[in-house]
Amino acid sequence: MSTFKAPKGTYDLIPPVSVKFLAVREAIAAPLRNSGYGYIETPGFEDVGLFARGVGESTDIVSKEMYAFETKGGDQLALRPEGTASVLRAALEASLHKKGNLPVKLWYSGSYYRYERPQAGRYRHFSQVGAEAIGAEDPALDAELIILADQAYRSLGLRNFRILLNSLGDKECRPVYREALQSFLSGLDLDAETVRRAEINPLRVLDDKRADVQKQLVGAPVLRDYLCDACKQYHEEVRALITAAGVAFEDDEKLVRGLDYYTRTTFEFVHDGLGSQSAVGGGGRYDGLSEMIGGPALPSVGWALGVDRTVLALEAEGVELDIPAATSVFAVALGEAKPVLFGLVTELRRAGVAADISYGGKGLKGAMKDANRSGARFAIVAGDRDLAEGVVQLKDLESGEQNPVAVTEVVEVLRAQLA
Ligand code: ATP
Ligand code: MG
Repeated sequence: MSTFKAPKGTYDLIPPVSVKFLAVREAIAAPLRNSGYGYIETPGFEDVGLFARGVGESTDIVSKEMYAFETKGGDQLALRPEGTASVLRAALEASLHKKGNLPVKLWYSGSYYRYERPQAGRYRHFSQVGAEAIGAEDPALDAELIILADQAYRSLGLRNFRILLNSLGDKECRPVYREALQSFLSGLDLDAETVRRAEINPLRVLDDKRADVQKQLVGAPVLRDYLCDACKQYHEEVRALITAAGVAFEDDEKLVRGLDYYTRTTFEFVHDGLGSQSAVGGGGRYDGLSEMIGGPALPSVGWALGVDRTVLALEAEGVELDIPAATSVFAVALGEAKPVLFGLVTELRRAGVAADISYGGKGLKGAMKDANRSGARFAIVAGDRDLAEGVVQLKDLESGEQNPVAVTEVVEVLRAQLA
């Protein structure tokens, strides 16, 4: 062990578990790539104001969880706590939002940072894959994103997840609801912090996870009863499209989510095997965000799926991912055979065969152990006598069968066997 440990609330991704993270990222990305989403990468930190304005001063993410700091040059920056504000900022900066170019569909994958109280499924450094469809108000886009997330989870073999769906209304109807909710909340017995939250952003009180708060919220006015006709119709179209795609969802009128920028469609993916950190992903429509960060009106929708929690969900469901062995062929060189086998391994790799060789001058026993540990299907073993005869021993590590094969033919033979 070294003197140092991974910082509190973080963990390292190391083999063999790390392959699951790669597989999850790839499974989420694949349907997006396949649906017109282009890859975007933005810096790990931004001007702190982007998040303060974009995500909202009153949210936990900004008020409590953000890693904000001043640089030596005096810039006020923050490690990114989420992806949407950065992606929108980048799209605006690059003028991707030209007329005729909309919606701009982007996906991303990366690390996010929140100063949270570490617990199972909740870390200070975590990983998300996200997607944003910027600049179009079209229920089919909201539906597309929900359907693609469902496809991603299913392609991984996840089954015990649920999709919760709600509409948060728009700038016409939400203020009316907000007032009704505020007056309901003012009659409750809440702690000082929650009372303050009720003043700044009353919808977020609905998101309070504490049982004593939830108990008091029974009978609270629900947004559905306040939606204007345009929002109602929009929401019905989203629901109809998802239903037609055969994707099951639950209407959840208390779903509000923790970010200020959401309007209309909001959704969350929850997994029932994760205890209290049950959200594996979430998202929604954020029609006002562009204007909040100084851009033009660009109604948009997006989601972010948590990679860490998706891996935990796979483990909770006992799903074994179908991950091919990293190595197909392992070379064991004895005597003076190393340069020849090293050359064969290089040739195999160039031919697209996953190949490895034992290093460090091990004897037959140690090198064969390496071969078995590698998960390879075949070993090529050779010593001075084999090479004098122009052959290597090709050993099938599954059946134990071993045959000599000409050095000049072994690459072709292996390619054929592994095809
Ligand atoms: P929660 O209600 O669990 O705090 P959130 O609403 O803060 O979640 P989002 O901002 O919607 O989460 O982020 C999308 C996804 O990213 C979450 O559904 C979750 O899977 C993952 N996520 C968020 N925060 C963390 C964290 N601290 N550690 C691990 N994963 C996280
Ligand atoms: Mg959170």
